[in-house]
Amino acid sequence: MAENNPFEIAKKQIDIVAKVINLNDGVRDILKSPKRELTVNFPVRMDNGDYKVFTGYRVQFNMARGPCKGGIRYHPQVTLDEVRALSAWMTWKCSVMNLPYGGAKGGVICNPKQMSRGELERLTRRFASEISPIIGPEIDVPAPDVYTDSQTMAWIMDTYSMQKGYSVPGVVTGKPIAIGGSEGRGEATGRGCMYVIREATKRQGMKLKGATVAVQGFGNAGSVVAHLLEEEQGAKIVAVSDSKGGIYNKDGLSMKKVMEHKNKTGEVSGFPGAQKISNEDLLKLDVDILVPAALENQITNKNASQIKAKLVAEAANGPTTPEADEILFKNKVTVLPDILANAGGVTVSYFEWVQDLQGFFWPIEDVNSKLEAVMSKSYQAVADSAEKYGVNNRTGAYAIAVDRVATAIRLRGIYP
Ligand code: NAD
Repeated sequence: MAENNPFEIAKKQIDIVAKVINLNDGVRDILKSPKRELTVNFPVRMDNGDYKVFTGYRVQFNMARGPCKGGIRYHPQVTLDEVRALSAWMTWKCSVMNLPYGGAKGGVICNPKQMSRGELERLTRRFASEISPIIGPEIDVPAPDVYTDSQTMAWIMDTYSMQKGYSVPGVVTGKPIAIGGSEGRGEATGRGCMYVIREATKRQGMKLKGATVAVQGFGNAGSVVAHLLEEEQGAKIVAVSDSKGGIYNKDGLSMKKVMEHKNKTGEVSGFPGAQKISNEDLLKLDVDILVPAALENQITNKNASQIKAKLVAEAANGPTTPEADEILFKNKVTVLPDILANAGGVTVSYFEWVQDLQGFFWPIEDVNSKLEAVMSKSYQAVADSAEKYGVNNRTGAYAIAVDRVATAIRLRGIYP
């Protein structure tokens, strides 16, 4: 039980990195404890007139480096320990990207698939109101996560603004552009991942033009990485998949056409001229680059030794288990860890917040060039760190992230 508890895993990761960077025990203990946790139980009027009580959480893991940042998810299986772990991972993600943020996460236990739009709006507004004492542009800035979207953010922004008496766009990111969202936010995760892959292939002396790529998961993250790798880098996407299965063509697939097919039929399967492939087999294809962009725990101790790709770019969160990590490292497969490879989304969220605070909005070219600079610099820092400590990129990334937060804690000192 404890083994699969995400918060236990998150704490174990700190212990591992603490040894690598020789972290003082007191600071290590601070970094294993969420700073602030709020549990709220609140009623919502359902469409049939009944009241139903929901439970939600907001956990602020650490704010030594700046306001907390992290999404809000709506899911029946949300637990406090899951939210704690996700808030820790947000802390490391913001830190490794050197964004001036701490980390947080929120969740409401609910089944959004069984709720009407009106019920979801009332749930969102009441939850926003319940957590409003601890959110705000200078305290904690939520964003979308599983089963929440730009509309959810619009409702939170409006609710918070009504309480203040004026518009506060900087209270959340991932908003619609019409009310203070940023250009480029929609494709930022995939675009950021493409930049990191490009930098990694350059550093490893691998040619990206013509390189073969398999992408598991053809959603927001996966479809954008696949499209940009083909369109902007000349890579050959030989396989893609979604929850219903995958398609493969050794000569390459046109991402534009696959996208049209998926928009028409709702799935990538059945794309003309491609062979069927299972999600499990897609992972083991003899390709140069593998991009897991769907779910967690896809590369495990059962299949890690069969991964033939030279580079694995984690567009998804947590697709590789710790045991698989060790096998891949031993087999000289380079892994670009999630806290780096999918951090394009939070990076453009940061840009959105900066634009909101300034009331000055940037054209897409500025957003993308600033994203490119942040992704490239962070990748080089992670690869340098991994080399310096003789560890894999994940531990290299954690070493940087944890050290930055520890440095902020040391410099600020303990209050009072
Ligand atoms: P999404 O819902 O848009 O897409 C998910 C895709 O995965 C869909 O194509 C779905 O069919 C597919 N999928 C689901 N189950 C699958 C299975 N068993 N096998 C293969 N494919 C399956 O979600 P998304 O936003 O693209 O997120 C995907 C991953 O990327 C998640 O791990 C998420 O946490 C991570 N991520 C996303 C963002 C972002 O900005 N969208 C940012 C950071 C991390």
